[in-house]
Amino acid sequence: MKADIEKIISEMTLADKIALCSGEDYWHTKAMPQYRIPPIMMTDGPHGLRKQDSSADIADVNQSVPATCFPTACLSGASWDESILERIGAAIAEEALAENVAVVLGPGINIKRNPLCGRNFEYFSEDPYLSGKLGAAFLKGMRFVGIGGCVKHFACNSQELDRMQSNSFISERALREIYLSAFETAVKEGKPSMVMCAYNMLNGTYCSDSKQLLTEILRDEWGFDGVVVTDWGAMNNRVSAFKAGCDLNMPGGSAFMEKTARRAVKKGTLDEEDINRSVRRILELVMKQNDIPAVPGQLSDHNDFAAHVACESAVLLKNSDNILPLKKDQKVVLIGAMAKNMRYQGSGSSHINPPMITNPTDAMPDIEWVQGCNDNGETDEGLISDAQAAAAEADVAVVFAGLPSSYESEGFDRADMKMPSGHLRIIGAVSDANPNTVVVLMCGSPVECPWADHVKGILYMGLPGQAGGIAVKRLLFGDANPSGRLTESWPFEYSDCISSEFYGTQRDALYAEDIYVGYRYYDKANVPVRWPFGYGLSYTTFEYSDLKIEDEKVHVTVTNTEKEAGGEVVMMFISQCEPIIHRPLKELKGFKKLYLEPGESEEVIFSLDNRSFAIWQNGWVVPSGLYDICVGPLQESINVSGDEIKAPDWQLTSWYETLSGSPTLADLETAAQANYKMHTPKRGEYNMNCSISEMKESSFVMKVLHKAVIKYAGKHNKADPEDPAYKMMLNSSVNAPLRSLQILSGTRDGIFRGLLKMANGHFFGGLMRMIKKQHP
Ligand code: BGC
Repeated sequence: MKADIEKIISEMTLADKIALCSGEDYWHTKAMPQYRIPPIMMTDGPHGLRKQDSSADIADVNQSVPATCFPTACLSGASWDESILERIGAAIAEEALAENVAVVLGPGINIKRNPLCGRNFEYFSEDPYLSGKLGAAFLKGMRFVGIGGCVKHFACNSQELDRMQSNSFISERALREIYLSAFETAVKEGKPSMVMCAYNMLNGTYCSDSKQLLTEILRDEWGFDGVVVTDWGAMNNRVSAFKAGCDLNMPGGSAFMEKTARRAVKKGTLDEEDINRSVRRILELVMKQNDIPAVPGQLSDHNDFAAHVACESAVLLKNSDNILPLKKDQKVVLIGAMAKNMRYQGSGSSHINPPMITNPTDAMPDIEWVQGCNDNGETDEGLISDAQAAAAEADVAVVFAGLPSSYESEGFDRADMKMPSGHLRIIGAVSDANPNTVVVLMCGSPVECPWADHVKGILYMGLPGQAGGIAVKRLLFGDANPSGRLTESWPFEYSDCISSEFYGTQRDALYAEDIYVGYRYYDKANVPVRWPFGYGLSYTTFEYSDLKIEDEKVHVTVTNTEKEAGGEVVMMFISQCEPIIHRPLKELKGFKKLYLEPGESEEVIFSLDNRSFAIWQNGWVVPSGLYDICVGPLQESINVSGDEIKAPDWQLTSWYETLSGSPTLADLETAAQANYKMHTPKRGEYNMNCSISEMKESSFVMKVLHKAVIKYAGKHNKADPEDPAYKMMLNSSVNAPLRSLQILSGTRDGIFRGLLKMANGHFFGGLMRMIKKQHP
């Protein structure tokens, strides 16, 4: 194959080589029959296949062929089970194979930095070790079936606000220890075919332009040998992107900056070999993936597995008086719109059209259901009093609550951490009427739960996928034993989260909390949380014994001490006893999900290596000293002889030493050893990174365009302000940089540059630019 590829490259013209590095349309790479180059198809996404066939309206993310909808990553990750993630990856790959899809755009492994990120439901965890291992497992499953996986969004894409232009300003240590390390594991162990670079800037450079990120770190350090694809519309500058190692611009159709790239080669400012490298990588992928024959599959085959995943991932958060499992002879009432029309997936590019959906009321048809509220979580006196009356007559009332789909989605962040007031009212009224109240929570990220002390049971189902109702029934009635554990901390209130003061308050993302994300902050700052990272109950109990460390291996034995079979997640944390360089109190460095029969024991063995102890200080270093190794309730210490290191001068007086109060911009600048600058261009300085919304106040042309785009978005998504697909579409158009709009709309170079000239006050110049003959 290598020789064929070299031959093709030698035959190709410069223009064709550049053109191959942009897609043909929204989902395909270019076919070039004159060089024997076939196309391949890519589709979303992490929780099932979102294949838009040729008849689909691309602007409507909800139009796609039927595919199994698995629990979203916020729930499947809570299984802490690599074998389950591997099987999900394989199942999605089988469906991809049946649909002639070569690469699936997932998994998403961004770190959950703050609970309000609209896309948290698509990501696994606040912890990089866990996110990386689960992502790698998913990719292994895909590879096993022969489908390429694409890990995304690389990197520091942890907010939806202005996601296409925001600048993530972060220290190198936080970048390496928290935000890159999940990608490192996924790339090294999962061997994805593609890496998708994120929309945002990282320390002032767009990810698509960053040679440091895409070549020096990704390829030279981690050994990635696949294709880097842009997130859809993320390409900033084709010339810098070639130099950076960003291969494929998606979607295709706009020929974005292709002429500029050709000119740059001619002028000698872009080396043709940079283009050849991208072409070579794309051809390797296309030739390999195009060879795989389609295998028709049965969608229904995956329904049981989707139910199984939801069962193994659900987290039992509270079980006072062993209210769960319910007894078969108890009179139970199900309350809430979500029982009949459950929230089972998130909105945006991961939206799936499942062939079947089993709601909780479908799975429990003989159990009484009362509505309680509407689908958007609104209620009234009548609905509340019906719910109360039904609850008063039942032995146990099960309320379904959480976040309606309009509250969280790709494309925008949540406004706060609250549940709808209607849900709060129902829980309050029902638990007043019947103390035996259980709440089943369906939401893609943590919510404030001020009612938690007033109910006896809480079962977190995340967004459980198409078979969620089956899983809820099995778990409530004890046919399955909850074994999921939280992959993120649940604060009491949003204000307890360290980034709450500065997250989402402006376009740029200032990572002032540095490495203190999630439990790394709450533990060290001694801020109590409602439920900690790793938390989850079971209908059985487990005992830990015989913890010992021998030859860099940690051994521990876990026993199921009750009469129920059950799953336990064994977690290993390391903790440096007297760190010289500031450091979290504990860091996850190993985990294993066990399934044990009553009375059964199993020994778990974890390995320790340099990275288990390392921190980033201009490179990975292992601070010498005493470390505690903590597994379950047990703890052992070891002495590690590593590097002798010194704390930086600034540390003692910085926020990072004490974690008291909030970090300031000055703290961040010191940790990042750089000054933060934000530049807001004015009329006359507008550029292709400015959005229509930004320019419309000072430009009549942009005002008109703003109206037209809003009208267009409304036509495709019914202009319903509660519809997340509509909100996302608006944000991805009027708030997108012009260059992204150009790429996403498949418009040739010239039109948007002309409009930009007009916005900068050169109406006629802009007009000329627009009507000038466009070169392909
Ligand atoms: C999302 C990606 C997705 C792509 C294609 C982008 O807006 O950020 O996650 O894969 O669209 O749908």
